[in-house]
Amino acid sequence: MSRPIEALIDSSALKHNLTLLKQKAGNRFMWAVVKANAYGHDLGLLLNDFGIADGLALLDINEAVAVRAKGWKKPVLLIEGFFDFDDLQIVDDLNLETLVHSEWQIELLKKKSFENKLRVHIKLNSGMNRLGFKPERAAEVKGELEKLPNVEVADFVTHFANSEKSYRSDGVLPVSRQLANLSVIQKDSAQKCFSNSGAILWHPEAADDAVRAGIAMYGISPDDNFDSCDLNLIPVMTLRAKILGVQQLEKDDAVGYGSKFVASRPMRTGIVACGYADGYPRQKLENRYVLINGKKAPVIGSISMDMMNVDLSAIPEAEAGNWVELWGKNLSVNEVAKLHGSIGYELLANLSTRVRRKRI
Ligand SMILES: *Cc1c(COP(=O)(O)O)cnc(C)c1O
Repeated sequence: MSRPIEALIDSSALKHNLTLLKQKAGNRFMWAVVKANAYGHDLGLLLNDFGIADGLALLDINEAVAVRAKGWKKPVLLIEGFFDFDDLQIVDDLNLETLVHSEWQIELLKKKSFENKLRVHIKLNSGMNRLGFKPERAAEVKGELEKLPNVEVADFVTHFANSEKSYRSDGVLPVSRQLANLSVIQKDSAQKCFSNSGAILWHPEAADDAVRAGIAMYGISPDDNFDSCDLNLIPVMTLRAKILGVQQLEKDDAVGYGSKFVASRPMRTGIVACGYADGYPRQKLENRYVLINGKKAPVIGSISMDMMNVDLSAIPEAEAGNWVELWGKNLSVNEVAKLHGSIGYELLANLSTRVRRKRI
C-alpha cells in the first residue's frame, strides 16, 4: 500500500466556486488562474471543470503545452508573458495569448512573424512595482504593438497588491489608489483586466471587462480575516494522512528531533504520516493543531521530514489507522497558515508532488 497521505480534490466544490465567481463577475470574461499546477491541486485532474471559466491563465509555457495536449480549446494566457524568443514559436503554434510587460518583449515580437493572430495583453504597473509599464506609457506601448503585423492588443492588465476586504483605505496602496494611478487609461477604448479574487468579491469599482480568479476558485478566502463559508466558497482540497502508530508517554519523556517537546504529564500521542517533505510547514512550535474525528489534536515537537506527533489526550478513541485532517473543509488552510506565520496560498503551492491527489 502507498503511504497513507492524500489530498482529496473535490471537483464539485470547484464547480460550485467557479459558478459563484462567474456570477459575481457578471458578464465579464473570467480567466481561471491555474499557475503552480492549479495552486497545488493538480491542473490535469481538474482541467475539464475549469471549462466553466472562459480561459486559463498560467505562467509556465510547459503548462500551456500540457493543457493544449489534453484538449483544452479555449483561450490560454501566459500571465507572466513569454520568457524568450523560442517561446514565441510555441505561442504561435498553440494559439496562446501573452502578457507584455517590458520593452525587451516588444523587441522580440518585432523579430517574429506570426502565422496566427496574436492577442497581447499590456501589463501596467499601477503601484505594485512588480512587472509592467508605467500607466503614462500605456498609449505609446499600445501604438507600438498595434503596428506589428498579426498582433492585436487585447486589453490593459494590472494587478492589485491589496484587494482584501480588511485592507484599510488609508493603507499604503489600497485598490482606490491603484485605480487612480490608472486614470490616464480610463478613456482609452482598450478593454481592461484588473481584478483578482479579492477584487471580484469586494471591489466592483474596478469596473473592468475581464477578471482573473485564483484562490477563491479553490474555495479559499482571499482575506484570511474572513471564512470561506461566509463567502459561500467550499474548499476544494482536503489534505489528510493516517495515524501510523501510537505512543504512551510518561512525564518528562521527550518527542522528536531536538526534543523540543517534553511531556509535563503522562499522555498518549499519535504519529501522523505527514512531514515537511510533504509541504507541511515546520517553522513554528506552538499553537499548531490537526483534526481527528472533528476534534482538535495539538501538534507537538518538531515536524520531521515524513512524520509529525500529535497529542491524543483529548481523543481517547483515536488509534492507528485513523485519518487526520491537516487542512481542508473543516480546518481552513488559511487558519493553519496563520498558525504557522504563512498564508494559505503558500501552503497549497508547497504541497509536495509526492502527495497523491485524489479526485472525488
Ligand atoms: C496569481 C495571480 C492572480 C490570481 O490571484 P488570486 O489572489 O489568487 O485571485 C491574478 N493575476 C495575476 C497576475 C496573478 O499572478
